[in-house]
Amino acid sequence: MAAPHMNFPAAVQRQALARQRNLCASCGTRISAPGEAGIASHAYGERAEAHHVIPHKKGGPVTLENCVILCRSCHYSVHQGGSWRDASIYDDLDLLPMRVRIAKIAALYPHYDG
Ligand SMILES: [Zn+2]
Ligand SMILES: [Zn+2]
Repeated sequence: MAAPHMNFPAAVQRQALARQRNLCASCGTRISAPGEAGIASHAYGERAEAHHVIPHKKGGPVTLENCVILCRSCHYSVHQGGSWRDASIYDDLDLLPMRVRIAKIAALYPHYDG
């Protein structure tokens, strides 16, 4: 279980999903609600999970800007494969202000803004 300070508040998760126009930030599958509440209406029966755009261990805050809502399988894949597997992509951003770092990585999500 993650430490509480790592977790996005429920209200932030709902706001992020609204910003994404109820689409998974990665694949665009419709998500009606974060967490278990969205399972019944998800096309593949997956719960939706909140993910840090800039990882917690890289100083990423639990703010709306740093939150994306993803299908469970999309969340797995951003951690285990694809564009996000190589953590050095974050090192290249270390000298930039946090809001710029967040914006640069957020731009990699096709549905960050819906
Ligand atoms: Zn994550
Ligand atoms: Zn997805």
